[in-house]
Formats: sequence, C-alpha cells, structure tokens
Amino acid sequence: MPYVVTQSCCSDASCVYACPVNCIHPTPDEPDFLSAEMLYVDPESCVDCGACATACPVDAITSTKRLTPEQQPFIEINADFYRQVRPRTVLAQPVPAARVEGGPLRVAIVGSGPSAMYAADELLTQPDVAVTVIDRLPVPYGLARFGVAPDHTKTRRVSRLYDVMSEQPGFGSYLNLTVGQDVSHEELLAHNHAVIYAVGASTDRKLGIPGEGLPGSASATDFVAWYNGHPDQSEREFDLTQRRAVIVGNGNVALDVARILTADPEALSHTDISPRALEALRHSKVEEVVIIARRGPAESAFTVPEFVGLLGADVDIVVEGDVPEPVPGISQKVEHKLRLLRGLADRPVSGRKRIVFRYLSSPTALSGTDRVAGIELAHNELATDADGTVRAVPTGSTETLDTGLVLASVGYRGVPLPGLPFDDAAGVIPNSAGRVRSAPGGEVVPGVYVTGWIKRGPTGFIGTNKSCAQETVRGLVEDFNTGRLTEPAYGAGDFDALVSARRPSAIRGGAVAARPGWKARLLARV
Ligand code: NAP
Repeated sequence: MPYVVTQSCCSDASCVYACPVNCIHPTPDEPDFLSAEMLYVDPESCVDCGACATACPVDAITSTKRLTPEQQPFIEINADFYRQVRPRTVLAQPVPAARVEGGPLRVAIVGSGPSAMYAADELLTQPDVAVTVIDRLPVPYGLARFGVAPDHTKTRRVSRLYDVMSEQPGFGSYLNLTVGQDVSHEELLAHNHAVIYAVGASTDRKLGIPGEGLPGSASATDFVAWYNGHPDQSEREFDLTQRRAVIVGNGNVALDVARILTADPEALSHTDISPRALEALRHSKVEEVVIIARRGPAESAFTVPEFVGLLGADVDIVVEGDVPEPVPGISQKVEHKLRLLRGLADRPVSGRKRIVFRYLSSPTALSGTDRVAGIELAHNELATDADGTVRAVPTGSTETLDTGLVLASVGYRGVPLPGLPFDDAAGVIPNSAGRVRSAPGGEVVPGVYVTGWIKRGPTGFIGTNKSCAQETVRGLVEDFNTGRLTEPAYGAGDFDALVSARRPSAIRGGAVAARPGWKARLLARV
C-alpha cells in the first residue's frame, strides 16, 4: 500500500529528497512546483518504505492503511496527479548549496518567519557563515506561529524544525528589536556583508467600500492574529453576539476563519489558541458563516487539500446556487474543486452550525449607522477575456444580507520599509531572484536581498519559502564570492554593543529549545 500526501502538506519538499525512488512530485526543479497546491506520491512507483513520512516536518504523509475516513479523498487526489501528462524535465536533485569562498560571511536577516528561517538554514549549510535573525516581536517564527490556524496542529509542528535550525553553530538572533526604529537599515549594512529582508506581507488588503471601518467590520488577518495570540491584537475585541458572520473572499484564510468561528470551543481548548479568543468563542452566538466570492465555484481561491480538510469538520457545509459540471480541458485542481462542491448537494445537513458558500456576489457597501447591520451585495455573472481571465460582471440585481460581523479576507499586502524601494502596485520590494533593485527593472541595490512574501507576493505555502530562500541565498553567495559585497565596517561585537545601548530589552538568542526526539529524527534523515 503506498503512502499519500494529505492536507497539512507544506511543500518544503523534504520528502522529495528523502524518497529513494523519486516518486514525489512536483519537485522544486519542475515547472509546475510553484502552481501546485501540494505534493503528490505516485502510487505506481511508491515502494512503501516510509522515508518520506519520516522526513516530513508537518506529518502530512501517511500510509493509505492509516487514513481516516475524511482523508480518503487524498488517495484519488495523489493518484490523479500522475494521470495527467505533465512536464518531468528534471528529476529530483537537491539544489546544490551555494559554496561560500573566502569567508567569514556575516548576514542579517530581518524577520523570523518561515522565509527567514529557511534563508538562515540555507546560509548555515556553509562553514564560516554567521547569521543574525532579527524580529520586532519577542517570540520567533512569524506566520508559522501567528498565521497557522490553531487546529492545524500538524502544520504548526513546523516550528520544531525551526527550533533545530536555530541551534546550529553560526545562528544568532535578536527578538524584540525593530529595524527602522531601534536600528537602521544602514546600521545593519555597516555590521554585515548583506541584509536579507524576510518581513512577509504584514498588512491586509482593503475592500474599499462605504462602511468599511464601522464597528463590526474587520480584516480576517486581524482575526487570525487575534485567535493566535499575536501581541498586536492582544487587546482586540470581536463582537460574536451575532447569529450570522460574513467573510468576503474564499481563499484558505477564509476557510480557516470560518472553521474556527464554527468549531466546538472545547475541541479548540487543547490547541495553541489564545486563551482570550477561546473564552470569547465559548460565548459566541455565531451559528452561520457565509463565505462570499465575487466569481464562481470554478474560480474558488481555496486549495483542494484545505477544502477536503473542511469537509471533515463538525459543521454543515452548504453551497448556494448551481455548481457547474467539470468539462474536459479544465485543470485538475478545478475539476477536484467542482466535484467536491457538487458532492455537497447529496450530503445531508444535520442542523449543526453551518458554513455557506455563496458565489457571484460582490460587496458594495456595509450598511448600519453606529455599527455594521448588513452587507450590500451586487449579483454578478462571469465574462471571460481573450487571455482566459474570468471576470465578475454585475448583473444589476442587488440584495442585502443581515449580519453584524463582516471579515474581509481578500489577501495580505506587503508594506514599505524605511530606506528601501517599494513596488506599490505589486506590494513587494522590487527584486530579481531576491536581489533588491531600486525600482522594477532598475539598478541592483548592493548587499540587500529579499525572500518570502515581500519578494514574490502573498502566495504559496510554508515550505514554498524554502526554494524561494535557496534562490535568494544563491544570488547572495555568488555576489559575495565575486567581491560585490562590501566588507562591513564594524564587527559582530559592535552590533551587540549597539543593540544593548539602543534597546536594552532586546532578547538575544531567543531560540526555543529543541525537543531531543525531534532533533534525533531530523539528524537521522540527513
Ligand atoms: P487568497 O488566496 O489570495 O484569496 C483572496 C480572496 O479574496 C479571493 O477569493 C479573491 O477573489 C478575493 N478578493 C480579492 N479582492 C476582492 C475584492 N475586492 N472583493 C471581493 N473579493 C475579493 O488570499 P488568502 O486567503 O489571504 O491566502 C493568502 C495565501 O496564504 C494563499 O496562498 C493561501 O493558500 C495561503 N494560505 C494557506 C493556508 C493553508 O495552506 N492552510 C492557510 C492560510 C493561507 P478573486 O479570486 O475573485 O480575486
């Protein structure tokens, strides 16, 4: 019986390199890696050795013998991937580590989320390299801690991998230290050969409609930060006295928020959820969450694995309106989404709390005087442009849905950083393959690099940041080896003195102690 990849796949591709028969695809070298929603085991080639399961940092891979009933669809989802004709230009090969010549090389990394940790880890594959990871928060790991839903316990285990990375020789960190406030970008460059910005996309995109900002309207990203105990949201209150909540946008964040709003609080009490949020959820009156999408079922932004996971939740799931039948020629992931959504028509509802998927509806205003009382929706039909883009076009008909809580879940957005260029249209720092440029297509800014969402925009999964970081580090090391980086004017000790003077409360080190069992397991696989 083969192994299968399941919902919590983080796409870091550890399994690809662990597999002795090259049966997990797409690999980071293959063209469809960046567009894939997860990795897939080829059931024909799998030799059932379990090496992939051991290597996976988030326990996403399991034997088909051990799947729960809710996980059964993953057998077909994995197998289906190998039924399509797809490019297999390159077989899985570890990306060669960039070799540092003539070290020591000193690099500061701003941010401590997944993209920062993978960049640090890639740099530390080389001897004679020192990295200093810096985060404004007093705890590390960014969205791995404050973005992953608390009930996604397997995905949250990726933090243990970062604990191990943090224990490597050459790894240093400063937490509770804000770049641009306590120390400047110029000061970082004066103490290091290079600075990598791995700051993510720290704000939310706005709906831009009247009424946004009324009490009762908020961003889903703030709600996520709140239930995960982010210090910036510690004082926040969300009014959960309403029977119906509405989420605008139907990406994976919307699914996370809908699941948490409808979950049994007792089931969440064993997770890392913030105690304050748990208490609020215990008193919640929310019985229905409506997820609004401006386009149709085929354009749903959520991924197949996350939707399969939602189907296993203890909640009724209802799809309003017709779901088209899959037609030949559509992509495999759209076909899976349509089949899963159509399958809901036959699923009995049991009167539990419910999540409603509503399509072809755009919010035009939030109604209410001193707080949100409803959301005004324009009904849409779909139009396809010459390039294949499917657009929502208003039909002219409208309606108002009563609700006292509207969460906009329309994506994250990068923010400009002091002293650095910014591409406002794309919400990223302009760069080519991680080398920062003065503007899109402009001059390279020496010694400054980006990785993660601030480099490529807010898409992909935790492990996507690994190949992203490898690309950035390859460019950085090449620049170092060819003499394009300036020797820092000051030493590492000088930086410590600067931080002590400017920010005595900065926390040096900051790595969470690695669990011995995990480390042994990690070392056993390399
Ligand atoms: P997302 O996947 O980009 O989805 C954004 C949603 O907002 C889409 O439905 C989009 O509709 C809609 N939207 C955008 N502008 C809108 C507007 N003005 N009016 C109405 N709707 C609008 O964003 P996300 O959910 O924040 O996720 C961000 C990334 O994190 C994704 O790559 C996601 O997969 C990842 N993530 C993954 C997990 C996981 O794997 N468990 C969990 C959370 C997040 P259109 O499609 O019509 O533009």
